Amino acid sequence: MQLNALHPGQSAVIEAVGGEGALRQHFLDMGVIPGTEVTVIKLAPMGDPMELRIHGYELTLRLADAEQIEISPVSRKAADEEKKAQRSQEHPGLGEEGRFHPRGSGDPLPDGTRLTFALVGNQNSGKTTLFNQLTGSNQHVGNFPGVTVDRKDGVIRGHSDTLVTDLPGIYSMSPYSSEELVSRDFVLREHPKAIINIVDATNIERNLYLTMQLLEMNIPMVVALNMMDELRGNGGTVDVNVMEAMLGVPVVPISAAKNEGVDELIRHAIHVAKYQEKPVEQDFCGIEDHGGAVHRALHAVSVLIQDHAERARLPVRFSASKLIVGDPLLADQLELDENERETLDHLVLQMEKERGMDRSASIADMRFAFIRKVCDASVIKPKESKERIRSEKIDRILTGKHTAIPLFILIMALVFFLTFFLIGPFFQDLLEGGIDMLKTGVQKGMEAVNVNDRIQSLVLDGIFEGVGTVVSFLPIIVILFFFLSLLEDSGYVARVAFVMDKLLRRIGLSGRSIVPMLIGFGCTVPAVMSTRTLPSDRDRRMTILLTPFMSCTAKMPIYGFFVSAFFPQYGWLIITALYLLGILTGIAAAFLFKNTLFKGEAVPFVMELPNYRFPSPRNVAQLLWEKSKDFLHRAFSVILIATIVVWFLKSFDFRLNLVTDSHESILAAVAGLLVPIMTPVGLGDWRIVTSLISGFMAKESVVSVMETLFGGGLAALGSVTAASMLAFSLLYTPCVAAIAAIRRELGRKWALGVVLWQCAIAWVAALIIRLIGLIF
Ligand code: GDP
Ligand code: MG
Repeated sequence: MQLNALHPGQSAVIEAVGGEGALRQHFLDMGVIPGTEVTVIKLAPMGDPMELRIHGYELTLRLADAEQIEISPVSRKAADEEKKAQRSQEHPGLGEEGRFHPRGSGDPLPDGTRLTFALVGNQNSGKTTLFNQLTGSNQHVGNFPGVTVDRKDGVIRGHSDTLVTDLPGIYSMSPYSSEELVSRDFVLREHPKAIINIVDATNIERNLYLTMQLLEMNIPMVVALNMMDELRGNGGTVDVNVMEAMLGVPVVPISAAKNEGVDELIRHAIHVAKYQEKPVEQDFCGIEDHGGAVHRALHAVSVLIQDHAERARLPVRFSASKLIVGDPLLADQLELDENERETLDHLVLQMEKERGMDRSASIADMRFAFIRKVCDASVIKPKESKERIRSEKIDRILTGKHTAIPLFILIMALVFFLTFFLIGPFFQDLLEGGIDMLKTGVQKGMEAVNVNDRIQSLVLDGIFEGVGTVVSFLPIIVILFFFLSLLEDSGYVARVAFVMDKLLRRIGLSGRSIVPMLIGFGCTVPAVMSTRTLPSDRDRRMTILLTPFMSCTAKMPIYGFFVSAFFPQYGWLIITALYLLGILTGIAAAFLFKNTLFKGEAVPFVMELPNYRFPSPRNVAQLLWEKSKDFLHRAFSVILIATIVVWFLKSFDFRLNLVTDSHESILAAVAGLLVPIMTPVGLGDWRIVTSLISGFMAKESVVSVMETLFGGGLAALGSVTAASMLAFSLLYTPCVAAIAAIRRELGRKWALGVVLWQCAIAWVAALIIRLIGLIF
């Protein structure tokens, strides 16, 4: 029987994991290995993908992938349980030899050596929260697998000679997505002085899988057992001494969110790094594995390659298990000769034969068997977890068969309504009032001391109108980010990915791509960066090309400006229509891409669904503070400069004489070059062209430049032009910052392509809108 045939509520034991390559390895690394029990929780509302519970956590995968997994009825589980019970009596002595004895050289590193730490752990295990506690920094935290997409460095508070690096979450040392590669390479290549391995205690089995691989790296290490508050709150405990003894590294229980145990963690981390105390060397390959086939293979390979590994400066045990799983790159790196490679193959074949499992599964099984042993001896799991029960209850509605999609639409509609029509405008009015008062004050002041008329016009019409208008949108932008971060931090966004997977597959993507797109409503730059969590290049490229269609907050001022000038009574209708136009254009583009540039299948959807969590006020406040700072910084740098430059260019002609009519200015002449292109779509006015060009620097400056150039004469444009202008601004090239992000991800050619292609789309859309407008 295959896993996809299992009905919700039913359990079974995995017999074999089919498929091949990276996906299969990923399954194994996530704990989908023969002998493990799985329970199907539910199917997504559209019937695909499915949600499973395995090793006490929730995993989603598509039915097509589930078909590769052979299962047998759960009755065998009873036998397993029995075996497990016996096994846990087999090693009464473990952990009783007293505290473990780390292998340090005894001499500390010389004073002044910078102690570098890598913060490594599963996705969503609390790395960033801990990083912020360790360093006092304000990195973005989210309850979604894959929020940290790039490494970040910081100094541990009060220890100036240290450097911690927050790395993207990984499930194993065989990377599955490009961000995982960042983490693995950091550990392998940059030789940190020590590793801080953060382990989610509420999901300990799967988290320890990575720990096992890290122990093979032979780098000094501390295990930070995080989320202890949750585990204890549910009545669970961990016998830290036993776990330390079994793993051979210090284990420190902490709660990163509550800042408990962090000082002790710092003390241990600095100690192991300073004294270079490496993990106690020991076998993880227990003898239970049917006569020790894996055990013997591992040791045989270790001996075979020992000298090669030392030469290549790679950890022996890491190399041995990697070679057994099959890594041709590593074999080259180790410079194994023909004979050695053959020997290796024979050893592996023998192991597979004796073990009755293929190479990858044998190694994964060996690790999970050891983990079970550690957990049996040291962890008392809570009978049930309050958080899990709560999550299940919430999920009955939020991912329920009939409720999921209507609720998603409702939640998004509510977010936009609250942001744009209820809370946002209220604060916007307040801020506008404040800016106006300031402006009047400045005007009076300048008149009193007889400041030159032109300068007065620069300050009042240019800076105050321009930058002031942009700044007044700060509340709306901050509020939208507030809601998006609540959705993400609570764990809802992961559900959206689960629910929407099937729909997104129609346009050639997977559910994971919904995340960058939702973030894209805030800002394209982080959205593009967050595509690194996508495990295939094809999906990544395609998602990156689609995110700019999700109207970002910087375009809000443009909409607000035109709507209030031309369509005050239809405000919400027009803004909704614009957002929809962006999404629909994105979908159309996706269909186009799917059949041309990116033929082929979207990547499999294998993702963890974290428990819902209450977003921490501190994290949310930090994010809002960052966003406001960032926005104001832009308003007073890029936008201010653009406004002043535009004011200058429109006030002077080529001989630097002041012009009385700005039509004779430098600006009119230069922007005039582009006017013919824009005339067919009704935007053939040099002032509009100028504002659009400045919008390339920052979208908000379209508004400030228009204010500067048109003054009060905006109404003369007419509503048809306003409508084409809106469509054009929605769709045309993303701003420089976004293009730079795209360039970082995809390279120069793609970035240039995006600029041209989006301008072309915008041009066509504006033309269509204009034609429709002219007909009516
Ligand atoms: P990362 O993906 O590993 O960087 O994890 P984050 O730092 O973004 O945290 C993931 C989620 O776990 C967030 O919702 C945090 O608020 C939450 N979290 C982190 N540490 C703790 C903890 O010690 N206790 C509890 N209850 N929640 C935590
Ligand atoms: Mg993180």
